[in-house]
Amino acid sequence: MMTFTGVDNSFFNILLGLLLLSAIPTAVALLFIPSPYGRYSESGQTWGPQINPRLGWFIMESPASLVFLYFYVTGTRPWVLPSLLLLLMWQTHYAHRAFIYPFQMRVRPGNQMPLLVALLGALFCTVNGYLNSIFIVNYAPHLAQQSWLSDPRFIIGVGLFLTGYYINKRSDHILQSLRRDNPDGYRIPHGFLFKWVSMPNYFGEIITWLGFAIAAWSPAGLAFVIFTIANLVPRALSHHRWYQAHFADYPSQRKAIFPLIL
Ligand code: NDP
Repeated sequence: MMTFTGVDNSFFNILLGLLLLSAIPTAVALLFIPSPYGRYSESGQTWGPQINPRLGWFIMESPASLVFLYFYVTGTRPWVLPSLLLLLMWQTHYAHRAFIYPFQMRVRPGNQMPLLVALLGALFCTVNGYLNSIFIVNYAPHLAQQSWLSDPRFIIGVGLFLTGYYINKRSDHILQSLRRDNPDGYRIPHGFLFKWVSMPNYFGEIITWLGFAIAAWSPAGLAFVIFTIANLVPRALSHHRWYQAHFADYPSQRKAIFPLIL
């Protein structure tokens, strides 16, 4: 039976459909209530038990790395070069995000994260890791062909992935340096793409996963980019308004997330 994903596996298709559908309420909810971690963690609302943000990031992000790896190595075609390169791209991002970033980050004194946020993030990362891994290793005959390495979709996708990765990591590094120099407060970030937008790290994250989706030519990758946009664009708009409300001298030409656009 032909499906909208081209994959003959009802469980995969239903899960992918649910992930896509959930992007809409996620975006709408986050436009009104920013996810209560980081600068919004002291908003006075009750979100249940609180945990250390380092532990929260580890709980949230580690399933993306581990679940992807498990389904990859137990899949039907793991040892072909295009798929292996996609595995490498995925793990380069997620092994860092899950096992290095939480232990490098500086935590504001007293700052905590709701356990609920960590668990919802972990649920998303589990589903997303499963869908992306299983599509690459089981349902993508194009990735079993060496010729995919010279396909324009692969080349453009890898280029976007690397560009997004660099933007994301360099921006996160600037913010971590600001946090280190100002342990309990916020400053206006300057330099690099902060000249153009308030949240270049989020912009880089979206470019990263857009590149991955194109390089894998994957419906699961596309669902991931759509969900990432639904998650990060509302948060970038909240951060942008927060900066404008807290700093009278906030640069007026700076956009929230997409240079010159939004
Ligand atoms: P933020 O930019 O809100 O915070 C990143 C770090 O920088 C935090 O430690 C924060 O401290 C600190 N910081 C931020 N702004 C300032 C400032 N003006 N002055 C001093 N310190 C500052 O990012 P997130 O925590 O939301 O995200 C972190 C990473 O995770 C990003 O790379 C993002 O792209 C990625 N991410 C990806 C998602 C996805 O859907 N794929 C979802 C969410 C995040 P504090 O915590 O005290 O505010």
